[in-house]
Amino acid sequence: MNDIILLKQGEIVLKGLNKKYFEQKLASNAARRIKPYGSFHIYTIQSTTYVEPQSDDCDMDGAFEALKTVFGVIALTRAAACEKTPEAIAAKAIDYLGDAMRAARSFKVETRRSDKSFPMTSIQLSQYVGGELADAFPDTAVDVHDPELTVHVEVRDLAAYVHSAPVPGAGGMPVGSNGSAVTLLSGGIDSPVSSYMIAKRGVRCIPVHFWAFPYTGEAAKEKVITLARRLTAYCGRMRLCVVPFTHIQEEIRDKCPEAYFTIIMRRFMMRIADRIARDNGCGALVTGENLGQVASQTMQAMGVTEAVSSLPVLRPLIGFDKEEIVRLARKIGTFETSILPYEDCCTVFTPRHPELRPTAEETAEAEAALDVDALVEEAVMGIEYVKLEVERLEC
Ligand code: ATP
Ligand code: MG
Repeated sequence: MNDIILLKQGEIVLKGLNKKYFEQKLASNAARRIKPYGSFHIYTIQSTTYVEPQSDDCDMDGAFEALKTVFGVIALTRAAACEKTPEAIAAKAIDYLGDAMRAARSFKVETRRSDKSFPMTSIQLSQYVGGELADAFPDTAVDVHDPELTVHVEVRDLAAYVHSAPVPGAGGMPVGSNGSAVTLLSGGIDSPVSSYMIAKRGVRCIPVHFWAFPYTGEAAKEKVITLARRLTAYCGRMRLCVVPFTHIQEEIRDKCPEAYFTIIMRRFMMRIADRIARDNGCGALVTGENLGQVASQTMQAMGVTEAVSSLPVLRPLIGFDKEEIVRLARKIGTFETSILPYEDCCTVFTPRHPELRPTAEETAEAEAALDVDALVEEAVMGIEYVKLEVERLEC
């Protein structure tokens, strides 16, 4: 008889009539994520999603690790299966939770019974299993009010299950349940974290990278592909858009005042991202901008940058300290790649004295010599698409 994995839903439990929709998204995201680990049956009952292996060769450790990064799950646990008799359940609890029982000073047993034909009530079964555990571990006291350890027993149709405290899940909402957005992904520390944060709110991400070859080399592109691939653990499979940006940057260098190079370049990023978003039914643009971090991230600069798109621009990191961003980057496994040396198109043709408080009128005038529509069209036509499947984690 196989162990199963139980996923405890996060904010989904607060949903009303549309709860089923969120639950289905969670189940299908979980199914896709653990497909590399074997064949599983996934279903939801009373705000718990059950993941049952369909054969003995399923990789349960791998599946459990992979499910820790599925958004919409607030906590998860592995449960051991046994025969549906009180004796077998008690024996399984003693064997499976022995270490946890020895480590705890007090415990209680909680039973859920979906098989109502089981000969004992939930309370009777809790008392019976509790008694057997107390005999087996005499140093661990019974405390039904404030126990250190709660032993869970579930009597279901096919088998009974025992498990202890769950581990934290990824939290958030199932990816895809809150629409989709274009996320601007550079090779830096911030933008992978901003993509992660917005995916956590249930948004499917389309990552876009602006690439100015040969000013930014093949290594810079590979780095962004690696970052996007890392993000698939959280965001699910994605298609990275690599936008050729060289001609636009050279045009800006040749035809615009130097103090405006960066702000004009960022407006092109927004225009192209806006176009990709509309072509793909996305509702927003996402950047890793952070108030005051660099000259292009003053309030005025951000206002002038976003004015060329009518979509909302989401900036999940706007109020974070660098330290907080770095902590998250380490947690999601992008930091080590982000700090590899590289050039970004932002660092090509950097003005010596960037305009810190650009106005919309001055910036429009500064870019007046450019054929904006033609440049956007040319860049969009040259997009290279990179398909990114979810990686199998090695445990
Ligand atoms: P990051 O660490 O994300 O690179 P940053 O602090 O270096 O951020 P900027 O280079 O000014 O800041 O970029 C601000 C945001 O603009 C980035 O977080 C990202 O969303 C977007 N961006 C910058 N360069 C690129 C690029 N080459 N391709 C796609 N998006 C980019
Ligand atoms: Mg950058």
